[in-house]
Amino acid sequence: MALNARLDHRNPLVFDTHELGRRPGALQRLTREIDAPKDLGIQEVIGVPEGAPMKLELRLESVMEGVLVTGTVRATAKGECVRCLEPLELELTADFQEMFSYPDADDRGRPKAEPADDAEDDEDMLFIEDGLFDLEPVLRDAVVLALPMQPVCREDCPGLCAQCGARLADDPGHHHDAVDIRWAALQGLAGSLEDGEKDDTSDAEAGVDEKQEK
Ligand SMILES: [Zn+2]
Ligand SMILES: [Zn+2]
Repeated sequence: MALNARLDHRNPLVFDTHELGRRPGALQRLTREIDAPKDLGIQEVIGVPEGAPMKLELRLESVMEGVLVTGTVRATAKGECVRCLEPLELELTADFQEMFSYPDADDRGRPKAEPADDAEDDEDMLFIEDGLFDLEPVLRDAVVLALPMQPVCREDCPGLCAQCGARLADDPGHHHDAVDIRWAALQGLAGSLEDGEKDDTSDAEAGVDEKQEK
């Protein structure tokens, strides 16, 4: 297990469990308003802008091996509709629950609950260090899970016109009369391309002949 660099109690996402104490069953509720950390959300899709206000509600429960943290975060995420590319905002509420273990929990004489060979689980474990814990990884996971991978400005967003890129929501009757004319023009173009292709083919055949001669 890799312990983080020493936690800083001034970091708004670091919480202090000293008041709670190591008394199993003890409870503490707290709220905290924080500024969103950098890169919170799904990159290039939707996220909570850095510095945006986030409201945290936490319930800390002291248990034998650590502190069980249950909480809710509320914030406004900003992104872009995947269909019409208009900016959008989303009121986000994400719940989370995570166990922060005492690093010395197994040294306190209680029987070990887990088998000794669960090294893989250890990597995902979070720890209390000097009575502090860092909520940031938990918050990041909770926010990403609560965000849509394909955000839309509204469920029935019609998106953009495939031909000209116009926003169809602004112009429900949008259509192109010129389709037939353009199609005809394309067919004309295709005809002239065919002539070109014939030339290419004969060139290629000439190339093959040359190789065969050698
Ligand atoms: Zn849209
Ligand atoms: Zn169009």
